[in-house]
Amino acid sequence: MDWRIGTVRETSRETPRSTTIVLDVPGWPGHRAGQHVDVRLTAEDGYQAQRSYSIASAPEDAALRITVDRLDDGEVSPFLVDDVLPGDELELRGPIGGPFTWSVDDGGPLLLLAGGSGVVPLMAMLRHRAAQGSDVPARLLHSVRAPREALFHRELLALSGGDPAAPGSASLQVAWTYTRMVPPEWTGFARRLDGPMLDAFAGPAPAADATGPAAAMAADGLSAGNGSTERIFVCGPSPFVETAASLLVARGHAPGRIHTERFGPS
Ligand SMILES: Cc1cc2nc3c(=O)[nH]c(=O)nc-3n(C[C@H](O)[C@H](O)[C@H](O)COP(=O)(O)OP(=O)(O)OC[C@H]3O[C@@H](n4cnc5c(N)ncnc54)[C@H](O)[C@@H]3O)c2cc1C
Repeated sequence: MDWRIGTVRETSRETPRSTTIVLDVPGWPGHRAGQHVDVRLTAEDGYQAQRSYSIASAPEDAALRITVDRLDDGEVSPFLVDDVLPGDELELRGPIGGPFTWSVDDGGPLLLLAGGSGVVPLMAMLRHRAAQGSDVPARLLHSVRAPREALFHRELLALSGGDPAAPGSASLQVAWTYTRMVPPEWTGFARRLDGPMLDAFAGPAPAADATGPAAAMAADGLSAGNGSTERIFVCGPSPFVETAASLLVARGHAPGRIHTERFGPS
């Protein structure tokens, strides 16, 4: 796959430690929500560093967006978050990725579990769902350290029409769990993802999918008990993804329907 040159159209600060970079990429072939690009930086002495970044924008968006979270001791992310300016050129290649993608034609319901910046490819799916006017039932649970680190918080609230502590009744439900800094007035989840949280947020596995003890439990209104097929996407740091996948399987969700993407070192 060839490397292309993307020109930075604009950058916007999402949170104190993350930035969205909007790129114009001539000849961009289009992408599916959930795919990523590789970004390659080259120093004056020829040293190169390459990292993967999920595409945050919907396929319907004319520009390509990536959203990068800064790791303070990282080689690439501090540059992308703090130093990239409009007019800069970035080398990138893509789109990359097959199984970790979703389009409205694939149907649902969708169950999306994100840890930290793992919300980025899931946001692309929800932006695509919104751009298509789809009412495929969808749920997103986003685990972040603190409210100020919750990427796309305002946009997700607007899309779901919900209250952050009490997911709304719209076809998109979004909830956050704060693992380190919990605001005093917060009444929502305030711990790392665990079984009871998943039970409260997602309910039992659809009866048709269930392979474990949850098989006997009735599917609820947003679950796939009516001929539709549940699709689960889990993305974030490796420990988050491993925990989430284990909890899902233990609750009877069919492993073949659980798509995972790990951002961090394993
Ligand atoms: C398919 C894919 C999609 C990705 N999409 C995004 C995205 O949309 N947004 C985003 O911000 N990042 C994303 N990442 C992570 C990204 O590729 C880099 O790993 C991240 O930006 C760190 O790079 P760095 O050069 O700053 O840190 P490095 O110099 O590579 O690492 C610095 C230190 O942090 C550790 N580390 C590396 N990556 C992580 C991590 N993700 N979490 C915790 N510790 C880590 C390393 O072990 C090392 O100790 C994605 C990764 C993959 C594989």
